[in-house]
Amino acid sequence: MDSPVRPSSAPRDPGILVPQIVQSFRLLPISLIVNLAIGLILAAVLWNVVPTPVLLAWSGLLIAVTGARYLSLRAFRNASPRSESDHAYWTRYFLAGACAAGVVWGLSGILLFHPSSFPHQVVLAFVLGGMMAGAVPLLSSVSHAYWCFAIPVVAPISIRMMWVGDQIHLVMGLMMVIFGLAMLATSAQVQRLFRDSEKLRRELFSSTEVAQALEYLVRLDSLTGIPNRRLFEEELSKEWARAKRDHEPLSLIMVDIDHFKEYNDHYGHPAGDLCLVDVAQAMHRTLSRPGDVVARIGGEEFAFLLPQTNLSGAIAVAEQIRERILALNLPHDASPVAGHVTLSFGVSSSELASVSSPAELIRTSDIALYEAKRCGRNQIVTARTTTSDLVA
Ligand code: GH3
Ligand code: MG
Ligand code: MG
Repeated sequence: MDSPVRPSSAPRDPGILVPQIVQSFRLLPISLIVNLAIGLILAAVLWNVVPTPVLLAWSGLLIAVTGARYLSLRAFRNASPRSESDHAYWTRYFLAGACAAGVVWGLSGILLFHPSSFPHQVVLAFVLGGMMAGAVPLLSSVSHAYWCFAIPVVAPISIRMMWVGDQIHLVMGLMMVIFGLAMLATSAQVQRLFRDSEKLRRELFSSTEVAQALEYLVRLDSLTGIPNRRLFEEELSKEWARAKRDHEPLSLIMVDIDHFKEYNDHYGHPAGDLCLVDVAQAMHRTLSRPGDVVARIGGEEFAFLLPQTNLSGAIAVAEQIRERILALNLPHDASPVAGHVTLSFGVSSSELASVSSPAELIRTSDIALYEAKRCGRNQIVTARTTTSDLVA
């Protein structure tokens, strides 16, 4: 059986190509400035030492290659490529630029090598060694970019040094080769570090996303898909603090399905589940303001939290919910109240003098709900106002 063949151009780690090339182009301005500055200083040092036409030709070549790399940088920024294939294309451009720069600096090892002035030879070797060392962090994020630059730089100057033939030049040429090999090895390590840090960054990002998704899911009721008691309690304490700070009312409606035990007994538990989903979803659709929350806080019990809503506003919302559920006309043949599913409501608000904490808000709406049940169900009861509420 044929084993699958991976195209040789495929990146080993899919997804790494994009950050690699983005990072490389991000560092390119530093490379270009250093290339130009060092090149011009070298030309100034060798002025009157190396034949002027040779020096001008080499400087012109350096400026042309640096200009072309700058144009590729601008094109990359304008294109702002996104896909892997786009980035493969820009990687080739980047490699060509690094290679061209390496060839220009490599040429200097031959063209600007003074045959008899040892100090000028040392300056040239020093500059080329510095260029190789400086390029390690700038070119190592893209595979092979450093090789494309460093090998053309180090080979000509090493050969030229050894070509002189005496002991000191042989040693210097050899040292250049050893230094070049050390830089190639360092570049490979820098590239590995870049890959590892990029992998870690992506893993961290995806685990944060998973954690956020889980955080969201633990606040949803698994049956009905609406918020659960946990989210309700968090929102209640948040909204209570906000309401007190802004001197705004906060209202709470407790809702309970009437005779739901009989519903289950009559239609079966799975049908009861479907009924809960229908009721919850219909309730959720009645929410009109962004801060409003409805949560399933118990088996067949729901709570509406209504920020910036006073008692009469909350009663109006409760009436809308009651009508919305009546309009669903969910049959409930076992209910002594009506032939369809009905709800009882207890409404309370932070406006009431008897309500001085979130717990009081829950307790007073629970008492009102109990009252609605006691008075025959299928109705809305408001938390009892105290004498001080009446005076206010
Ligand atoms: P009341 O009008 O006084 O509220 O009577 P009720 O029968 O609705 O209230 P009770 O507290 O006696 O019974 C609640 C029922 O709700 C009992 C339980 O089986 C049912 N219930 C609670 N959670 C679920 C659920 O997730 N799915 C289904 N199908 N039934 C549930
Ligand atoms: Mg009930
Ligand atoms: Mg109940």
